Amino acid sequence: MERKFGLAIHGGAGTILKSLMSDELQAQYEEGLEAALNTGYTILEQGGTSVDAVEAAVASLEDFPLFNAGKGAVFNHIGGHEMDAAIMDGSTLAAGAVCGISGAKNPVIVARAVMEHSGHVMLAGEGADEFAVQQKMEMRPDDYFFTQQRYDQWQDALKEDKVQLDHTDKKFGTVGCVALDKAGNLAAATSTGGLTNKKFGRVGDSPVIGAGTYANNDTCAISCTGVGELFIRSVVAHDISCLTEYKGMSLAAAADLVVMGKLVKIGGEGGLIAIDKDGTIAMPFNSEGMYRACRDSSGRKEVLIYK
Ligand code: ASP
Repeated sequence: MERKFGLAIHGGAGTILKSLMSDELQAQYEEGLEAALNTGYTILEQGGTSVDAVEAAVASLEDFPLFNAGKGAVFNHIGGHEMDAAIMDGSTLAAGAVCGISGAKNPVIVARAVMEHSGHVMLAGEGADEFAVQQKMEMRPDDYFFTQQRYDQWQDALKEDKVQLDHTDKKFGTVGCVALDKAGNLAAATSTGGLTNKKFGRVGDSPVIGAGTYANNDTCAISCTGVGELFIRSVVAHDISCLTEYKGMSLAAAADLVVMGKLVKIGGEGGLIAIDKDGTIAMPFNSEGMYRACRDSSGRKEVLIYK
């Protein structure tokens, strides 16, 4: 019998209210999710690796302007875009991450290059930009990253001198993907513009291995979205992996304990996507909604926004 394979993606969690969403906008979000989902699934179906699948799905979400990653990344305090991304290969525990990078069209592809070609795990700021150029990554001028919606959010945040979670209605637009391939290998990737109006080189959980991103063939692969500071303090992704490994909990039970219990206790709004070594998928969140989708070889296919 062929091994089960599959993937899950997210486009951020938060206060996503049906009352504030037009049918047209909802259709656009669903289209963006579905395109990324199918991109990753096709790679898995054709026998490609989970690392290739998560990279391609996240790059597709980065290119989609409604999500807070790549094109569509939020503005920081000084009107720039500082992006964070990470990728992890569960078969070797190899990982690569970038934080505070500007100019790379697809930060997740730079993160993969860090994993494979830098001899390091995490590169930051100007050094990461320089590495991206040296690796011949696709670079884009500032105006590529401009979107009116993000600009308006930044202007609002500036007026109120607030650091915002992606926008007006408290949404985290970070993107991510987790996948299990036919060979039984797990991978995870996450990419984000971080928080609107962020200052001082602030970095969230997305590029922090074990917090916002983690994959281990022995357990599961996880990508998070939410208030980064609380996800770092809770070491969310690694905690869930440990609960399944050391306590023998199911993925669903472990993910629920962390997202609905531990995070809620300290005010950590958000959610995550996870897939385990058997191909079981969990997509819990403690916010109003989470842009999410999953597809596996047993025929499960979902594209969802609300509870
Ligand atoms: N977790 C991200 C961060 O704190 C935000 C998000 O999920 O949108 O940078």
